[in-house]
Amino acid sequence: MAKSSADGIRWDLGDLYSSISDPKIEADLKMAKEKARLFESRYKPAFQELLRNMSSFPRKRESRDVDPRFRGNDEKKIALVDVFDLEEVLRAYIDIVELSTRPSVYASLLFSSDTKKPEHGAFIQKMRTRATEIRAHCLFWEIIWSRLDPSVADALSKCQALQPYEHYLKKLRSFAPHVLEEGEEKAIDIKENTGSRAFSRLFDEVVNNITFRVNVNGKIEEKTESEALALLHSSDRALRREGHRSLTEGFKENARILTYIFNMILEDHRASAKLRKYDHPMAGRNLDNEITLAAVENLIRSAKSAYPTVERYYRLKRKILQLDKLYDYDRYAPISERDPHCEYQRGREIVRTAYHQFHPDVGRIIDQFFTKKWIDAELRPGKHGGAFSCETLPSLHPYILTNYADRVRDVMTLAHELGHGVHQYLARPVGVLESHAPLTLAECASVFGEMLVFDKWMEQEKDEEVKLALLSSKIEDCFATVFRQIVMTDFELKIHFAVAENGELTTEKFCDLWMEANRPMHGAAVTLTEEYRYWWIYIPHFIHTPFYCYAYAFAQLLVLALYEKYKLDRDRFVPGYTKLLSLGGSRTPEELCRLVGIDISDPEFWNLGLSLVSKMVDQAEQLAAKHV
Ligand SMILES: [Zn+2]
Repeated sequence: MAKSSADGIRWDLGDLYSSISDPKIEADLKMAKEKARLFESRYKPAFQELLRNMSSFPRKRESRDVDPRFRGNDEKKIALVDVFDLEEVLRAYIDIVELSTRPSVYASLLFSSDTKKPEHGAFIQKMRTRATEIRAHCLFWEIIWSRLDPSVADALSKCQALQPYEHYLKKLRSFAPHVLEEGEEKAIDIKENTGSRAFSRLFDEVVNNITFRVNVNGKIEEKTESEALALLHSSDRALRREGHRSLTEGFKENARILTYIFNMILEDHRASAKLRKYDHPMAGRNLDNEITLAAVENLIRSAKSAYPTVERYYRLKRKILQLDKLYDYDRYAPISERDPHCEYQRGREIVRTAYHQFHPDVGRIIDQFFTKKWIDAELRPGKHGGAFSCETLPSLHPYILTNYADRVRDVMTLAHELGHGVHQYLARPVGVLESHAPLTLAECASVFGEMLVFDKWMEQEKDEEVKLALLSSKIEDCFATVFRQIVMTDFELKIHFAVAENGELTTEKFCDLWMEANRPMHGAAVTLTEEYRYWWIYIPHFIHTPFYCYAYAFAQLLVLALYEKYKLDRDRFVPGYTKLLSLGGSRTPEELCRLVGIDISDPEFWNLGLSLVSKMVDQAEQLAAKHV
C-alpha cells in the first residue's frame, strides 16, 4: 500500500462509542426497541381509528358555510382531531430514530475504517438487523398519515408546535394520489424482488463480469471495466484507442442480454407509472425531487442551447494535443504530462484558507474537523475506498473519510467532503427527519467548496502550464456533470417514449437514439466512431434509478450561479447561503434557492451558470494561446 503524507490522520470515533464492546451500544438498542414497542401500542390503534372514521366522512367543504348535513360529521371529526397530539407522536418517533441510528452509524464507520476485519462485517450486519426490527414497529404511522383525508391531515398538522415538521409532513402526503391500497403495495414490494430489482441485479452481474481484453504491446491483458476505462485517461493515444476498442467489444458481446434488460426496465417503469397514475415517465422522480416538469424541461433546454461551449472547448483541446482530429477516445486525454503533487499539510492549508476567506464562521467549523479528529485521511490496507462525509446524528457532528494520496485531485476531494461536512453540521438544528438536503441540492455545498478551493489555487499558482491543467480538469468536470447528464436524460426520455409508442426496442434502435442524443453536444469538434454507438449499454443510472441524471446538472449549474452571485456581492450572499445550508431538507428546493435570490423557475436562470462555463473556456483559450 502506497504511503502518503496523510499517514497518522485518523478519526476518533469516541464521540459515538468507546469500542465495539461498549455496553452503551446494547443499552441504546434495548431502549430504542422498548420505546418503539410502546410507540406502536400507544399510537397505532389511534391512527387506525382515525383512518377508519375518515373514510366515512364527507370531503371538507371549501367554505365554512357548509351544507347542514355535514355539520355533525365535521364536529365529530374535530373532536377526534382534538384528542390526537401529532407533535407528541413526532417527538416520540424522532427519539426512537435517534437512539436506533447511533449504533448503526458507529458500525458503518467502524466497518469503513477496516473492511477486512470479520468482526466489523458481523457487527454491521447485526446492527442492521436490530435497526430493521425497531423500524418495523414504527412503519405504520407514515403509511396511515399519507392516506388520511386531506382535511383531517390539515387539521392535525395546523398548530404552531408542528411548524418545524411542516415540510416533512407535507412531502409524505404529496405521494398520496400515487399510493395504492396497502395490500397492493405489499404485493408489489414482494414481486419487485423478482421483477425490476431482479433485472437490476442481473444488469450488475452481467456488466461487472465482462472481461475486457486489451492488447498491450502485442500481449492480450484482461481488464475490469474500471481498469479499461482508466486507459481513456492515458497520454498514449494508441492505448486510449485500444481501451476504447476493447470496451466496445465487451459491450457488443453482451448486447443481446443487456438490450433485453433495458427493455424490461422500460416496460416495468411504464407499467408502474400507469398503476400509480403518473402522467409522464419523469413524474415520479420529479415529485420526489420536489421540482416541476416545466422546470426540468427548462433546465434541459437551457443546457442544450449551450452545447456550442462544449464544441469550442474540444476544438481547443484538439489544438493543445496537436491532433488533426479529436475522436471520442481522445476526450479524456491529459492536457499536461505534469501531475503536480500536494502534501496533506499544504492541501489542508489551501482548503482551510479558502473556507476561512469565504467566512470566518465557516472556517471555524472546518477547523474543528481537523483539530477534533473528525477526518480519516491516511491510506491503509482494508480501509474503504473513495471519500464520503457521514452526517451521523443532529446531536453529534459529521465524520469524513478520504484516501489522501498527495494528488491535486485529493485536495479537491477534501474540499468537496468538507463542503458536505459544513452543510451537515449547519443543518443539525432542523433534526433527524429534515436534515437531509433534497437530491438536487445535496451536492450543492460540496461543489461550492471545490469552487472556493479551485479559485484560491488558480489565484496562487504561478506556473501557467499547471494553471491550464487545473482549469481544463475543472472544465471537463463541469462537462461531465452538466452536459453529459443532459445528453443522458435526453436519451432516457427518447427510449421511454419509443417503448411507449412501439413496444420493445432493438439494440440498433437503442444505438440510433444514443447517437441522436450525443451528436448535438459533440457537434463537429469530436468525431464519434461507429464503436461509440454501444456506449449506452453500461450506464447503471438508466437501470437502477431512472431519471436520476438531471439532478447532477441541476446541482452543478446552481453552484456556478451561486458562485457568480458570491463573487458579485459577497456580503449579501454569505448570510443567505449559510441560511440555505442550515435548513437542510426542511424546505422545497425552490424555497431554499429563494433565500439566495435565485428563482429556479425563471427560464433565464440556468444561463448564469452556463455563461460561467463559457467564461472558463475563454480563460483556457487565453492561457493556451501563450503556450500552444
Ligand atoms: Zn458529494
